[in-house]
Amino acid sequence: MCVWCERYGEGHERWYLNPANYARRLYKVRKDEPEAAGAEGNPQAAGGMASMGRAFLEARERGDLETVERMRKQAHDIAWGIHFGQVITQEELEQILDIIYPIGLMTCACRRSMRGLPDEENFTCMGMGPGMYKWERWPDTYRGGVHFLTPDEAKQVLNTLRSRGLVHTLFTFGTPYLAGLCNCDYPDCAAIRTAVDVDVKVLWKGHYIAEVDPDLCNGCGLCVRRCQFKALSFSPSTLKANIDPLQCYGCSLCRDVCKPDAIRLVDRATLPALAEIW
Ligand code: SF4
Ligand code: SF4
Ligand code: SF4
Repeated sequence: MCVWCERYGEGHERWYLNPANYARRLYKVRKDEPEAAGAEGNPQAAGGMASMGRAFLEARERGDLETVERMRKQAHDIAWGIHFGQVITQEELEQILDIIYPIGLMTCACRRSMRGLPDEENFTCMGMGPGMYKWERWPDTYRGGVHFLTPDEAKQVLNTLRSRGLVHTLFTFGTPYLAGLCNCDYPDCAAIRTAVDVDVKVLWKGHYIAEVDPDLCNGCGLCVRRCQFKALSFSPSTLKANIDPLQCYGCSLCRDVCKPDAIRLVDRATLPALAEIW
């Protein structure tokens, strides 16, 4: 069990399966705390997170260790209190779609910042809850506005994004209020990039770890291209796929493309050496 499940799970199997963490009440509470508004309260803040990730990497490249450490602490503080994410599997996503309302497809602040994508090509992010009405009312401020989706439509869109290789993540906007259902990749996603490249934990690993059964693996290599976390490699010695369990975020994307079903997800809690590595 991760610290978030301990704090906010309230008896549910996972903290993000607890409907209370999507409640309108939390949105209102959060609105009374402007410092906790995060990217949803201020649409530029999500871009700000992406810019911060980029500034962090630039500082590291020029060897400015003082700035690196200052920004690392700042990122941790933001993540824990305001804007924190965790990777989820496809099965968990389907459970979450039964909890949330409304759900809207919106533009991705990270890709806008990293790639300069125009809004019409950038609808890869999803938002949940009453904050979505703000995106509907002020499309000029909340760039591109929002397309509201039924749960079935959302599932179809998410399956398409997943087939493209995007990882499903959940983000808080004033922890534990969950309002972001993101679809991310490396290097576009500032959270993935900072987690993988510099171990700044804006994004936590998921509750599962993928394992390859070498007896079933036929060495096709398809899974290796799916991993956004640098956890998968192909061994030229065994001609099989390898997963680094310390690096696996449990997104389950590799499993989607494995025709002989050689990849399975194992609950992190059942692996003592990895149970506390998030
Ligand atoms: S977290 Fe993912 S979907 Fe959300 S803004 Fe960043 S890259 Fe886009
Ligand atoms: S996709 Fe499956 S069969 Fe192909 S290399 Fe990966 S684990 Fe092996
Ligand atoms: S190894 Fe598979 S489950 Fe683990 S992070 Fe990579 S793609 Fe996701």
